[in-house]
Parts: sequence; structure tokens; C-alpha cells
Amino acid sequence: MYKEDTIAAIATPPGEGGVAIVRISGPDAERIARDIFVRKERNGAALDSHKLYYGKIRDPRSEKVLDQVLLTVMRKPHSYTGEDVVEIHCHGGAFVVRQVLQLVLAHGARQAEPGEFTKRGFLNGRMDLAQAEAVLELIQARTDKSAAVALEQMSGGLSKWVNELREELLDILAQVEAAIDFPDEDIELLQASELAQKLSGILEKIVIISNSYEYGRLLREGVRVCLCGRPNVGKSSLLNALLGEERVIVTPVPGTTRDVVEESLNLAGVRVVLWDTAGIRETDDQVEQIGVNLSRRHMQQADAVMLVLDGSTTLTGDDIGLIQSCNGKKILAVINKADMPQIISPESLAHEFDIDQVTVVSAKTGDGLDNLKLTLHDLIFSTAGEPPVIVTNLRHKAALVRSEQALLRAAATLSLGHAPEFIAVDLNEARQGLEEIVGVIDNEAVLDHVFSSFCIGK
Ligand code: GDP
Repeated sequence: MYKEDTIAAIATPPGEGGVAIVRISGPDAERIARDIFVRKERNGAALDSHKLYYGKIRDPRSEKVLDQVLLTVMRKPHSYTGEDVVEIHCHGGAFVVRQVLQLVLAHGARQAEPGEFTKRGFLNGRMDLAQAEAVLELIQARTDKSAAVALEQMSGGLSKWVNELREELLDILAQVEAAIDFPDEDIELLQASELAQKLSGILEKIVIISNSYEYGRLLREGVRVCLCGRPNVGKSSLLNALLGEERVIVTPVPGTTRDVVEESLNLAGVRVVLWDTAGIRETDDQVEQIGVNLSRRHMQQADAVMLVLDGSTTLTGDDIGLIQSCNGKKILAVINKADMPQIISPESLAHEFDIDQVTVVSAKTGDGLDNLKLTLHDLIFSTAGEPPVIVTNLRHKAALVRSEQALLRAAATLSLGHAPEFIAVDLNEARQGLEEIVGVIDNEAVLDHVFSSFCIGK
């Protein structure tokens, strides 16, 4: 599982930049550095750990100098991988850094696989699996909020919580196992109600966190919001106003937007994916009909619907049909064209159609846009409030569901008064579910899957 060799890779993204870093990890890292790194003063002298040295990278065979660099050695175990690590900070051109990497490989290192540095960090106990996965999420984070959640997990927030629950579960298991070992002492009868109470306490905590996955998914992947409305109510104008640019063509001719236009917006640190769709109305035009069907599909897939209405005219049959077809979705009704005399009243609209949120804006003047953003944020996140720990990874969610179901079975077995052996089986399954999250895993395929989604050099 763990190859004791030395790996190397370019740790910075491809292309030109200020610096590019070649990272080396393993038993030969320092020897390779000594072979190819020359300093003006005290050349060949030992390098201290965690210090930055200035010098040149030179091919000892041809004596050709490849670059002037800064080099650092981080001796084990105080490094990202838990092994000896060397980092060479080259000038940022793609060619130079590739030459330096080639030289490192020629001196005995092997090209690292994706995520192999992090995998070694995990295998050497520098971080648990949930923390290693959070590294990837941090790299991929696109907003403040998703970065903050990833950072919290990387610092061990989720792991701490999982380990505490695991301890609680082990306590219960100990009691159940005592009942198995000493059947004559009637331990199980005395403790049945206390056990049931503890089980439901753990179950409750697992359910809260397991349910946070939906919240976490919204943070990580973005919230999908569908802008719907009949033609000409101002959907495209509103999208442009929200983005602060002319992204979509606006015309007074109804039915102009036929494809779905996708744009993203940062809403108080959360990424929102906005779909501007074709106006939804009854139509005989075949091309427009395809657009309308596409709009309806997006509306169904969206996490929330922003239903745009023209406040300067009375509601039409198409408007009402649309409101009714949003049934079951989170709806924000946006009464647009507030710069014109208003016919639709927000209060009666909310009351009559039982809409969650109603807001009034003018896409033309920008009035009400800030309030619209706040209202949208509330609509999406208000229901539950922020959970104590947020799960963003599907693997973690699956493991929590496994624990949750095993605990439910254990509780049922307990209430039926079955032998403690049966309860122990389910409690052990629940424990394994929790342990999977932090990486007590003996299945290499799972580990390979986790680390293969990383980039090379991480
Ligand atoms: P869509 O078909 O729903 O995407 O509507 P558009 O964004 O293409 O706008 C239709 C027409 O309404 C255009 O002539 C816009 O200039 C106009 N319009 C959009 N928003 C406003 C607004 O807030 N106030 C006014 N007065 N006109 C608007």
C-alpha cells in the first residue's frame, strides 16, 4: 500500500507565474537536493530544516545551470507528508520548472501520482481521511463560505465531532458486551431504558449532521436558482442587473430568450448559479415550445425559483399558471418594473398564492436589488439555521446514513427485548460507519478513489 520511494512533482499550476514549485518527498529527497543544488557560500554543508536557502540548480553531469532558486528542506515528521520534503522555488516559466523536475527525476525520484503527497500525509498520520479530503475541497472552493467550511474540516472540526460520537458509541457497546459476558446478572434489563435513551441521543446528533449534507452541497456546488416568468416581465434585464453587466440581450419582443443562460453570482459568500430561462407561456411556435419545456425542466431541478412578474400590469393566466406550477418549490416572487405605476400588491400576492417571499425591484433603475439578494439568501438558508458541523462530501454522508440505519435497528432490537448479541452487531456497524469517515479503512480501493481526484503535486 505504501511505497517507500521518493516522489516528485510540480506543485504549482501550469503556465507562467512568479514562482513555480517542485516538491520532492521521501527518503532520497535531501540527497537529491544535495546533488543538484549549489550555494555560493558553504556549498555542500548540511541544510537546516525549515529554512529557506538561495542558490542554483545545476546538472552535475553537464554542469549546466538551470535556474536560480530558493530551496527548503522540511525533515520528517514535521512536513506535509510526514516524510523528508524538499521544495524548490523556481522562476515561474513552464519550461524551466519542467527541466528542474526532469533533473530531480533523473536523480532517482519518481513522478508523483495525483494526490500522492496528501495520501502519504494521511498514511503517516499527519491528518485523517476527512481532513485530507477537506484539502481538496479547499483547493476547489469558489466562495468564502465553502472555503471556510473546508478549512474547518481540514482543521479537524468534523473529525473531532465524529470521534466524540464514536467514544459515546464505544461506551454503549461496552455495556452491551458486559451484558453478553455476564448474562446472569440481568444487566440488560436494568439498563435497557438508559441504553435506549443514550442510543436516541447519538442518533439525534447523527441525523442533524447527516442532514447538513444538503446545506453543505449548496455551499460547495452552489445554489441553483431558476429565473422564471412569462415573456417580457424582465427576466433577462434582472439577470443583467444582478450580474452588473449586459450578459443577456434584452428586447421588447416577447420570446427572445430561448436557450437557458447560466451565470453565477456570489451571494453573501455563497455561489449561486442563476438560470435565465425562456419565458413560459402557452405557445404554438415549435421552437418556442422547446424553450418552454427546457425552462420547466430547469424549474424542477432548481433549489429555488425566482418567479418574475411585471408589477405594472395585472397578473395574466400565464403568470397564475406558473405560480401554481411552482408548487412544492422554494419561491421568491420578484415584482419587477417598480419604476412604473404599480398594479400588483406584494401583500395580496403573498397572501393569495401562499408564496414564501415577495420582493419588489426595478431591473431598470437597480432599486430593490440589494434587498432581493438578502431575501433570496434567507429563502435558501432560513429553514434550518447553520448546523454545528457541515458535511459536504458524499462519502461522509453515505457513512453517516449507514450508522444512522444501524442505530435505528439497534434501538428496535433493544425495545423488542432481544439478546444483547443482536444489539452489538448493529452497534458495531454504526461504529464502523463513523470510523469510515475519519479513515479507519482497510479497503485500498476506497483510498485510491479518494486521492485520485486530487491534482498532481498535492
Ligand atoms: P424577459 O423576456 O422576461 O427576459 O424580459 P426582458 O429583460 O427582455 O425585458 C422586456 C422589456 O421590459 C424590455 O423592453 C426591458 O427594457 C423592459 N424592462 C425590464 N425590466 C424593466 C424595469 O425594471 N422597468 C422598466 N420600465 N422596464 C423594464
